[in-house]
Amino acid sequence: MPAATPSRPGTGPFVVDLRDLTRQPGQVKSLERRLSAPEGWTVAMIGLPPGQPIDLVGQLEDVGDGVLVSGQIDFVLIGQCARCLTEISRTGQATFQELFVYPGRAADDADLSRVQGQTIDLEALVRDAIVLDLPLAPLCRDDCQGLCARCGANLNDDPRHSHTDTVDARWAGLSKWVQSQSE
Ligand SMILES: [Zn+2]
Ligand SMILES: [Zn+2]
Repeated sequence: MPAATPSRPGTGPFVVDLRDLTRQPGQVKSLERRLSAPEGWTVAMIGLPPGQPIDLVGQLEDVGDGVLVSGQIDFVLIGQCARCLTEISRTGQATFQELFVYPGRAADDADLSRVQGQTIDLEALVRDAIVLDLPLAPLCRDDCQGLCARCGANLNDDPRHSHTDTVDARWAGLSKWVQSQSE
C-alpha cells in the first residue's frame, strides 16, 4: 500500500475508475487528466504549491494479474534560488509506471500497489514522481553568483560588486535595512 492518502479509498481527483477497462489481458485504455497539487508537494525551496496544475497523459493496460499504469506528467515548479533567493518558475516533466495488482493476486506481497475495489489511486505515484526528484538546493541558473556576503546585494545583477572596509563599517546597518525592505 502507498502512504495513507487524505481521501477515502475510491474517491478523490487522483482516483481512476477501472470499470471501463475490460478485464482481459492486453486491453488498453488511455488516461488524460488535469489535476491540482494537494498540500505538501514541496521540499525546502521548490515544489508545487497547493492548487498548482498537473497535466497527466498516460494509459492503463490489463496485464492479467493487475493493471499497469504508465504515463507522463507536466507541471510548473515554483521556488526560490538557494543562492540568490530570486523566485524560480520552471517547467517540469516526469514519467511514471506502476503495476496495481487485482484483489486476491500476490496476496503475500505487502509492498505491491493494489486495485481497491474497481479503482486505483494515483496520488502516491504522481507525488513520488514529482517530489522525489526535487532539488534540495535549486538554482536560478547553474552559475548563479549568489548574494554578497557583506551587504546582501545580488551579485548576478552587480558582478563587479566591491567594498572598501570604510564603507562597510558605516553602511552595513543601512544595507541590511534596505535589503529587508525589498523582501
Ligand atoms: Zn540565483
Ligand atoms: Zn556587497
